[in-house]
Amino acid sequence: MAEKNYEAIILGGGPAGYTAALYCTRAGLKTLVVEKFSAGGQMTQTQMIDNYPGFDEGVDGFTLGFKMQNGAHRFGAETVQAEVLSVELTGNPKTVETSAGTFFADAVVIATGAEHRHLGLPEEESLIGKGVGYCAACDGMFYKGRTVAVVGGGNSAAADVLLLSKICEKVYLIHRRDSLRATKVYHEPLMQAENVEFVWNGQVSEILADGRVKAVKIENKVDGGVREIPVDGVFISIGRVPETRLFQGQVALDDAGYIIADESTCTNLPGVFAAGDVRTKAVRQIVTAAADGATASYFVEKYLASRN
Ligand code: NAP
Repeated sequence: MAEKNYEAIILGGGPAGYTAALYCTRAGLKTLVVEKFSAGGQMTQTQMIDNYPGFDEGVDGFTLGFKMQNGAHRFGAETVQAEVLSVELTGNPKTVETSAGTFFADAVVIATGAEHRHLGLPEEESLIGKGVGYCAACDGMFYKGRTVAVVGGGNSAAADVLLLSKICEKVYLIHRRDSLRATKVYHEPLMQAENVEFVWNGQVSEILADGRVKAVKIENKVDGGVREIPVDGVFISIGRVPETRLFQGQVALDDAGYIIADESTCTNLPGVFAAGDVRTKAVRQIVTAAADGATASYFVEKYLASRN
C-alpha cells in the first residue's frame, strides 16, 4: 500500500505522467503516479508507434508505456493503480481521493489525457462491444475477414482504416467532408488499398443492429440522400475529449474542456500543473506529451522551492 503524503502526485500514467514522474524523482521529490488502467494511457491502444524517436523499427504502445513506467520506478517513483474519485486542489496540501484511499501532495500534475469522442447516437452506448468500437488496434482482429466501417477523416481514422484493411475483407471510410483531414503520409496507401471504399460527405445517422451491429445508415450532407451499408462492425474514430470532469470548478478550462495552460504547464492554481493532451496546445503527440512532463517537473520544483 502506497504511503499517504507526497511532494508530487501525478494523475495519469501516460507519456506526460511518467515523464513528469521520472523528472520529479530524479529531482529528489517523493512522487506518486495514480493510474486507472495500465501504464501508457492512450498509447496502449496503438499497435505500432513509428513517430516516437529512438525506436528505429517502431514500438507498440504497451511496451513503450511499460518502459516509461519502469524508467520512472527505477528512480523511486511509485504507482497506485486506482481511479481518482475527487480532488481538492485549491488548498495546501492538495487532496486526491481515489478508489485505493486518500493521498496528499504539495503539488499535483494533471496528466489525465483524453478519451474517445462518441458520435452521440442514442443506440451507440448499448452497442459498445457488440459491433461498435473505438480502438481498431485493440479490437480489429475480431473482424478478420469481415466488413467494417470507420467513421472519421483525421489521422486516427486513416491509421485505423489502414490497419483494418489488412485484416478485414472490406473497409468503408465514412467522412463528413469531401477530403481527408489526415496528413499526406496516409493518402497514398489509403487510395491504393483495394478493399477500402470512401464514403464522402457522409454523416452516420443511425447504427442498425439485431443484437449486434448489422448496418449503418448514412446521410449525404450535400444532397440529403440516405444510404444503408451492411457492416459487421463500426469503429468510431472522430477525435478525443479531455478527461477533465473532476477538475471543473477548480481548474480553469477552455470551451472544449481542456485545461488552460501554456508551455509552462502552469494552471490558474498555484501548485497545479497540466501536462500532455489534457492541456490547451497545438500538437498532441507522444513526444509533446513527454516534453510537457519534463517541463511540469521543472515548474513543480520551482513552486516547491518558492514555498520553503
Ligand atoms: P482529429 O484530427 O481531431 O480528427 C477527427 C476527425 O473526426 C475529423 O475528420 C472530424 O471531421 C471527424 N469528426 C469529429 N466529430 C465528428 C462527428 N461528430 N461526426 C463525424 N465526424 C466527426 O482527431 P484524431 O484523428 O483522433 O487525431 C487526434 C490527434 O492525434 C491529432 O493531433 C492527430 O494528428 C494525432 N494523431 C497522429 C497520428 C499519427 O500518425 N501521427 C495518428 C493518430 C492521431 P472534420 O474534419 O469535419 O472536423
